[in-house]
Amino acid sequence: MARYIGPVCKLCRREQTKLFLKGEKCFTKCILDKRATIPGMAKPQRSKPSEYMIRLREKQKLRRMASITERPFERLVTRASQSTGKTGEELLKFLECRLDNVVRRLGFAVSLKTSRQLVLHGHVRVDGRTVNIPSFEVKPGQVVQVNPKIKDNVGIKLGLDYAARKSTRPAFLEFNEAEFSGKLSRLPTREEMSFPVAEHLIVEYYSK
Ligand code: SF4
Repeated sequence: MARYIGPVCKLCRREQTKLFLKGEKCFTKCILDKRATIPGMAKPQRSKPSEYMIRLREKQKLRRMASITERPFERLVTRASQSTGKTGEELLKFLECRLDNVVRRLGFAVSLKTSRQLVLHGHVRVDGRTVNIPSFEVKPGQVVQVNPKIKDNVGIKLGLDYAARKSTRPAFLEFNEAEFSGKLSRLPTREEMSFPVAEHLIVEYYSK
């Protein structure tokens, strides 16, 4: 599957907002604090963006924050539109409950990139079975566990330390330090989701 492997800070500069793709560095050494220009554009854009452009940028922002490519993202939007709840919120719920995101929000990784690596390398189990698919959808009641054998991994230690210091774990995840695991106790509410976007603009973008 095609995947962006270029410099991630460039994506934040393009969206003119922090997408938090580098974990702790985003809070300490963010390039956006010094250079907020759009890549390839020496001066800031003066003309007013069109409605279409505003929606497109919001969609790109979410897609990049969730590190997901266009096709699977489109499929999620279609699924969300077929569900009974609000399309925008349903879409965010799907993204929030992806295995790579749950691993990150439990504090086992400081960014989606590192949590995805943990999943892809077979270090993550769901209800006792190894799952190496980052897009796996965690259901309420399921327990996600990172292999305790790698608890000395520098990235994991950094993530756990950061989550403990900043209290970033949401209420819908029950963290179990002794078991090196966490349970999705219920679906997240909009306030608990980690994607600060105007989801109605994304729904409007796809409803054209
Ligand atoms: Fe984005 Fe983080 Fe880079 Fe800042 S440090 S530009 S938030 S990826």
